[in-house]
Amino acid sequence: MRRLSKSKLLAYRQCPRRLWLEIHRPDLNITNAETEANFLVGHQVGDIARGLYDPNGKGVLINIESEGFDQAATHTQALLGSKQPIFEGTFVTREALVLSDVLLPVHQGWRMVEVKSSTSVKDYHRDDVAIQSLVARDAGLALKSVSLAHIDNTWIYPGSEDYQGLLVEEDLSDQAFSRNGEVRQWIAGARQTMAGGEPEVATGPQCSTPFACGFYTHCSAFEPQAEYPIAWLPSFRKTEMLRKEGILDMKDLPDAISLTEKQQLVRNMTLSGKSYFDAEGAVADLKPHPLPGYFLDFETIQFAIPIWKGTKPYQQITFQFSIHRLGVLGKLQHEAFLDLSGNDPSRAFAEKLIAACGDNEPVFVYNAAFERTRIAELAERFPALEKRLLNINERIVDLLPVARERYYHPSQKGSWSIKAVLPALVAELSYDNLEGVQNGGGAQAAYLEAIHPQTSENRKQTLERQLLEYCKLDTYAMVRLWQVFAGKTHWRL
Ligand code: SF4
Repeated sequence: MRRLSKSKLLAYRQCPRRLWLEIHRPDLNITNAETEANFLVGHQVGDIARGLYDPNGKGVLINIESEGFDQAATHTQALLGSKQPIFEGTFVTREALVLSDVLLPVHQGWRMVEVKSSTSVKDYHRDDVAIQSLVARDAGLALKSVSLAHIDNTWIYPGSEDYQGLLVEEDLSDQAFSRNGEVRQWIAGARQTMAGGEPEVATGPQCSTPFACGFYTHCSAFEPQAEYPIAWLPSFRKTEMLRKEGILDMKDLPDAISLTEKQQLVRNMTLSGKSYFDAEGAVADLKPHPLPGYFLDFETIQFAIPIWKGTKPYQQITFQFSIHRLGVLGKLQHEAFLDLSGNDPSRAFAEKLIAACGDNEPVFVYNAAFERTRIAELAERFPALEKRLLNINERIVDLLPVARERYYHPSQKGSWSIKAVLPALVAELSYDNLEGVQNGGGAQAAYLEAIHPQTSENRKQTLERQLLEYCKLDTYAMVRLWQVFAGKTHWRL
């Protein structure tokens, strides 16, 4: 009988079709970069957890790859007679198998800790520990408690590879131990699913929750596709309800469904193929913020496990900015900051930003919450720069609400991101012509590659050029959007 691993049971919990496809058609699975990145982070956190739970190095790490499941399970059982921490302890029953991140000896038994790279306990973690507990107990473990350890994103890294405090534990024993019946039902259901044909499950919210499913291309291939998907309607909460009734297209939206003004606008423009532009309103919005002005954009990087002293897990750390200054007569100047040294770029970033942003002029951004929050974080970290940094925040003018209120083109497909608005408003500007880095995710990947010690100087220079060009285009795009909104299209910029 084929045993079910915990990950297969969790796949079943997400969607029976997913489990079936993982077993019978793994070739159809398209792994995305995010899934791979999460996997890597999980490994890093696991390594650190072993150091934290076993500071004296007395524990034993079961090597599942070299030992195989059955040998690993025998090895684990042998270690249960000892009093040392066990990592990747393996438990098998006739039907299922689980690996436990951390097992610690306690009075007359063991304490289990599952380690996650998330910053809180999620519902699927509760399923996870319920499965772990049942299978390990069925396999003979005297399990006294089970906890979930996750990352504390308020913790500040003190440096010197000291990770005490990175993880916080939540005791889930009661919740896990009371769900044995449920878990047995999942195991039975999963077995039945595996033995049958491909389940007929339509795509839906489960395809991205709790994890992006790699079979989406396969599952959606033969489903009817809308020409004008209802999902393009902004902040529309009835998409799923309508989908269940087979209504996917804005064309087919029943009259009884009420729409907000914005949703109605998107629907009308989409179906008519026309664009909307309240030019007078846009000019009026920008009038209180006369030139000269700055156009600013940041690039940031996050590390689940901080690498720089004074930073927090998952903190967005600014490593690059681009700024265009537009004078009263349309003269355009550009400045940039990019630190690829591999050291914490924050202080130099903050100082250069202050120097580049002037004193009184408006600072235009697109989606102000992001830049404002980063600047406030820098101000908190560097009190000596606080006043001047917060002065920039006070001058920030957000172009996103202007775009959202005054402009819509059907090609935006319900989005007002700068990359959706730009091609509609300024057709000759495109991110597609950029070499290498073309979006925020690409910028982060380029940054990580550039600071890697094994990256050659040549490659680093190429990445530097690509990053500079990408971020420069972001702020130039903002200048061009401003130009249209401010009614200055006659300026040659
Ligand atoms: S894409 Fe959606 S429907 Fe298809 S297997 Fe995955 S979760 Fe299930």
